[in-house]
Amino acid sequence: MRASRVMVSAAAWVELLAHTAAEWPREACGLLVGRIDADGNVWIAASEPVANLASTDDAFELDPAARIALQRRLRETGEGHAIVGHYHSHPFGEPDPSVRDLARAEEADLVWLIVSAGPEGVRGVGAYVAAPGSRLVPVALSVRPQ
Ligand SMILES: [Zn+2]
Repeated sequence: MRASRVMVSAAAWVELLAHTAAEWPREACGLLVGRIDADGNVWIAASEPVANLASTDDAFELDPAARIALQRRLRETGEGHAIVGHYHSHPFGEPDPSVRDLARAEEADLVWLIVSAGPEGVRGVGAYVAAPGSRLVPVALSVRPQ
């Protein structure tokens, strides 16, 4: 089911913002763990920082081994949670998908969070869902207080 709305737990939100701040001025990236309910709401319970394997500072390449390891862990102890998306930061840019992002949005229904942040703090966060044809469709984003 295509996601219609993304709800991030406060814990995951704090974690991913701290990670993007720590990596600045490099792009940070990580995986988003949660579930999709019958109404198409994506509930993100946790975020997992992942090593960025990109060779330049203005790109991201999630370590595929980290994703496989996390998938395995979730199958064993995830209590129904799965990898539902990923996040990365734009240290200098807007929270909009770059041309390179769009070219890589091949995995349909995966949630993308793009964090625009610098030393002054968070400028904005964009939430998107990958759709066929290498598109990233904007979806509503909210943070759940806990
Ligand atoms: Zn990007």
